[in-house]
Amino acid sequence: MSLDKLNTLYREVILDHAANPHHKYKLDKATETAHLDNPSCGDEIDLNVLIKDNKIEDIAFTGHGCTISQASASMMTDAVIGKSMPQAMTMAKIFTDVALGKQKTKAKIKQLGDAQVLTQIMSFPARIKCATLAWHALTQVLIESETQDD
Ligand code: ZN
Repeated sequence: MSLDKLNTLYREVILDHAANPHHKYKLDKATETAHLDNPSCGDEIDLNVLIKDNKIEDIAFTGHGCTISQASASMMTDAVIGKSMPQAMTMAKIFTDVALGKQKTKAKIKQLGDAQVLTQIMSFPARIKCATLAWHALTQVLIESETQDD
């Protein structure tokens, strides 16, 4: 598949994140980890999150996969670092809802930072799983972390 149908600006942002992913390393001090894969494309992500005082103090990922999955993980880590757990959960919900074709207001989508360009991905149904993989890993980490607090 080519990304030609995406507008040029969006394509450049995605390709830049994929070529130079942000926060791509193992985070030794992580308090939570999640591993997810997307067998339909071969994407894999290991997400490492340091949660402190109910906040995402630090976040990083390792793994491999297609341009969309790598760019998405890079954008996701940029978007949620420093956010509270409820804020991060809301962002994950906005992203996955939009990717599934549910309408959200522009103001809500704007919270996603660079990741908002990937909400255009619903024009490519085959790539939705690539785009949402990192956000699903984040959701899993947040849910597990909340459960442990009980
Ligand atoms: Zn993929």
